[in-house]
Amino acid sequence: MPSIDLKAELEAAIVAVRDAATVCQSVQKNLVTAATLEKKDRSPVTVADFASQALVCASLAANSKVSEVVGEEDAAELRESGAEETRDKVIEHVRGVRGADVSPDQALDWIDLGGVTPSDKTPQYWTLDPIDGTKGFLRGQQYAIALGLLEHGRIQVGVLGCPNLPGPDGQLGCLLTATRGGGAQILPLTGKGFEGAKDIRVSDITDAAAARFCESVESGHSDQDQSAQIANALGITEEPVRVDSQCKYAIVGQGLAQIYLRLPTRADYREKIWDHAAGLIVVEEAGGRVTDVRGHDLDFGHGRQLENNSGVIATNGPIHDKVLEAVARFIDVS
Ligand code: AMP
Ligand code: MG
Repeated sequence: MPSIDLKAELEAAIVAVRDAATVCQSVQKNLVTAATLEKKDRSPVTVADFASQALVCASLAANSKVSEVVGEEDAAELRESGAEETRDKVIEHVRGVRGADVSPDQALDWIDLGGVTPSDKTPQYWTLDPIDGTKGFLRGQQYAIALGLLEHGRIQVGVLGCPNLPGPDGQLGCLLTATRGGGAQILPLTGKGFEGAKDIRVSDITDAAAARFCESVESGHSDQDQSAQIANALGITEEPVRVDSQCKYAIVGQGLAQIYLRLPTRADYREKIWDHAAGLIVVEEAGGRVTDVRGHDLDFGHGRQLENNSGVIATNGPIHDKVLEAVARFIDVS
């Protein structure tokens, strides 16, 4: 049994992710799209990434009983000379949400709250990807703010902020939330507390050939040749849904697709905990199943990475074993 009040922690996480989403949306809206893309200028995403982490950490520090955050970023780079322009922009965005009296040091310290390395001494901690799917963010497409709460390596709470996915009433922007044993819900991205929340459920199909699968837009993050072979072997005729970020888990959790394939492109790559914690609990609590390519549970008990896993397979559940069988025919899972 978790020793924490999951509902209270979920509420804290919802507030935190909504704060961060405000900034991410305004930065994405102001991207000078064509010019930024052509120059491959990543600075807007860097600013939004840091501001998002600062806002989530500040909000959790105020509202959550769990103070440790294992985030993707730390502020070391922002404290260096030469980083003034980025730093000033980050602080401006943080002030936009938390008030004009936030000092520069306070903003950087909030970012550093997310610099925890998990160990046996931290049985409970949040894990945060302040902007998951940065490539999608820069393309003006899908991305997510992903926040999960772990206790003894087990995910207990998850929130995915998805500013460019439709919400419960078709409006743009949603949150997907889940607590262990408490089901999964979709909420409007903006609003108060749980207002407008609706339960979500995975698809109930049992015929893998009728499935739709999703995968990364980036072929460097998941092997798209192998996924095409696997889909073909399963008799799937629909084109894959290619989406950046943990929005893929959001799509499977809502029953809009039945499979998420993440097939290793390199034997030595280890998945990061913040890329999967929130998404995994959303799919599991919506009734689905998540394993690695060998069918092993994702093991979050080994620091910042999923040291004992390779790739990820998420499905609606009934077709999971069939998908794993097909995966084993095309990739070496020994
Ligand atoms: P996606 O949007 O699903 O393509 O995933 C984005 C995430 O992929 C980023 O947050 C990175 O942490 C992660 N990533 C980076 N390199 C790799 C890789 N070689 N294989 C799998 N994931 C990766
Ligand atoms: Mg990520």
